Amino acid sequence: MARSSTVYTTIDFDKNGKQTGFFNIPHSPHDDAWGAVRLPICVIRNGQGPTAVLMAGNHGDEYEGPIALGELIRGLDPGAVSGRLIILPALNLPAVLAGRRTSPVDGLNLNRTFPGDPHGTLTQQITAYVSDVIYPMGEAMIDLHSGGSSLDILPSAIVEPAPDPAHHARNIAAVRAFDAPLSVIVDNLGEPRTSTATAVRAGMTVVGTEMAGGGTVSTGALEICRRGVRNVLGHLGIIAAPSDAAGSTRPLMRVPGPAGFVLATRDGVFEPFHANGAQVHAGDKAGQIHDLGDPSRPPEVLHFAADGMIYGRRQPGRVVAGNCCLVVACPAEEQA
Ligand code: CA
Repeated sequence: MARSSTVYTTIDFDKNGKQTGFFNIPHSPHDDAWGAVRLPICVIRNGQGPTAVLMAGNHGDEYEGPIALGELIRGLDPGAVSGRLIILPALNLPAVLAGRRTSPVDGLNLNRTFPGDPHGTLTQQITAYVSDVIYPMGEAMIDLHSGGSSLDILPSAIVEPAPDPAHHARNIAAVRAFDAPLSVIVDNLGEPRTSTATAVRAGMTVVGTEMAGGGTVSTGALEICRRGVRNVLGHLGIIAAPSDAAGSTRPLMRVPGPAGFVLATRDGVFEPFHANGAQVHAGDKAGQIHDLGDPSRPPEVLHFAADGMIYGRRQPGRVVAGNCCLVVACPAEEQA
């Protein structure tokens, strides 16, 4: 049974053409007793075909996705669509407006709140609306992420693993259609509370991305993102395939569980020994942490725990114990 909700919208999901508007979540802080947070939504519907849900701004400090989806909203002619696009370009709007990973309203990371709670905090209400109302309308979804303020990640399209082999192969095919420089299987250590894991459970074809990061806009990654979204929509048959759409044939990569992460072992400043993309081996020195307040103390050296390629690294120099300093990706055995 559907969970009851106070969220409302003027968008008619069954109407042909392009509608841009908002879904409103009642919000009652000190200075606005009966107001709402207005989250942007666009629906473009025409003819027969599948429904794809396109999302960005899941994290508010990842900018390539919201820019690319804003351009799509403004530029896509409904006549070019066969099916329906439901576009949520600034999903965690308070976080997007603050340029932060987490919401300034309730402090939550939206991508750890699925399937949400229709009577929970604001962020939980957003994810409940996506889970209960948006996802059931869609056959496919793309969630556009970047590395955010804390990470710089090689531009890549992400496979969210699906337990059913045919579903998994469908996800890999859509990720390959995106045609990012890398296609990487990332299971977030089995985390079930993400947008992509929840979309897999809903049976959708799922594409994620990681597009650079560092809290800024990468021109190269933005172009990859623009092309990738249209490539996937062409792959799904919702728009004509772009003339230069080829699909990636490069080997699939994966983040190999806990061994793929190099975490800080103490507080200080992390000095990486290699750039993103470098080939490394388990046991190699990864970098070292300096105690700038005590020069008599030798730096602490960190080591890789997996063979592979440096896929991402921490952007700020300052670390505390437990911070993610480096991420390694290795070749995936599966090459569907
Ligand atoms: Ca992210």
